[in-house]
Amino acid sequence: MKCGLSLDIRDVDETSINIDPIQVGGRLTADAMKAVIAYGDGYSVCDNCRKPNRLDMIKSPPIDAFHRDLAAFLNMDEARVVPGARRGFQAVAGTYVKKGDPVLLTALSHYTEFLSVEAYGGIPLEIGMSPGHIITADAAGEKIDWVRREYGKPPKIIYLDHFDYQYGNEHEVKGIIKVAKQNDIPVLYNGAYTVGIMPVDGRSLGADFVVGSAHKSMASPAPSGVLAATKERAGEVFRTTKAEADLTKRTFGIKEVEMMGCTLMGVTLVGMMASFPHVRERVKHWEHHLRNSRMIVDALLAINGTTVKSEYPRRHTLTRIDTSGSFDTVARTHKKRGFFLTSALKEKGIAGTIPGATKVWKFNTYGLTDAQAQYTANAFQEIAVGNGLPVSR
Ligand SMILES: *Cc1c(COP(=O)(O)O)cnc(C)c1O
Repeated sequence: MKCGLSLDIRDVDETSINIDPIQVGGRLTADAMKAVIAYGDGYSVCDNCRKPNRLDMIKSPPIDAFHRDLAAFLNMDEARVVPGARRGFQAVAGTYVKKGDPVLLTALSHYTEFLSVEAYGGIPLEIGMSPGHIITADAAGEKIDWVRREYGKPPKIIYLDHFDYQYGNEHEVKGIIKVAKQNDIPVLYNGAYTVGIMPVDGRSLGADFVVGSAHKSMASPAPSGVLAATKERAGEVFRTTKAEADLTKRTFGIKEVEMMGCTLMGVTLVGMMASFPHVRERVKHWEHHLRNSRMIVDALLAINGTTVKSEYPRRHTLTRIDTSGSFDTVARTHKKRGFFLTSALKEKGIAGTIPGATKVWKFNTYGLTDAQAQYTANAFQEIAVGNGLPVSR
């Protein structure tokens, strides 16, 4: 079946148990699928856009109420939808970062955080990680002092990932934000792997900004995300245009500069909106998803020679596992080499791991039902036993 000339149908989430780290939190709900079909046309949410003509003020569909709900969901004062977490970073960097300004990221920051700093001429500097791959408040404090000495000014802003994308480890965000506050440095909380899958309370964390990735963690189409701010910071990052055209003297109302006026004008926004009631409910069940994930990690660890690179016990469903001492020993002599694992998983209907990887790889079990989780745990062990690897039960 084709969706046009050269576009195959995509059915990985219908036909398999998908454990792809970046995909599991972004899978659409059935409501989002319906909304996407109904609002597929360009500018579809603009039917009832009235003066003063801004996306977040449209009443039908209830986009204005959705923005208030989003802010409340994150316990922040203001929220805007953005085309991905990266565009949230960009809006913040565009507001605060000038050429030569030091900006603190971490040794586990995502590349998009670096690019947003680079785009405005800032100097990205990393807070180092502990041997256990944790970003600590102590390390943040030391790096802030170092930046002051080295650059003669404090970092303009600090970006913090609550859980990083490499290990899925939890970092000391609350402690680091406290240190940042003592130094009067605003903090962007990057919730790409939290907002939409677990509860996030921006105010109690003390964050100035909360960024989420809707296509990663809010069951939404790409590119979509959220940028929320405190009242004080909202006036800065969501500042309105002051431009006046020289010839025609036109002005542009209350369009927000960093948002380029309006952001998500169709499928992405209605997808987010349709999934939102489900997302708001599902974050309450985070512990359940975590339990299933721990069960699968333990099943892997029972395969002799397997170790976990992430912190343990796990606090996130994204895990970096090391099977150099188990599956990789099979790969060395198997006729399919490293692809034996991918292929064995595929035969069992499990998708989403890196093809050919048998040493260090990542997976994310978020969203599996109990039965799927148990099936996945068993599948790993059956593949091990089938290839002569001892499993201790
Ligand atoms: C995925 C990810 C991003 C990028 O998110 P987009 O919504 O695709 O822009 C940023 N930071 C972290 C930590 C991520 O995991």
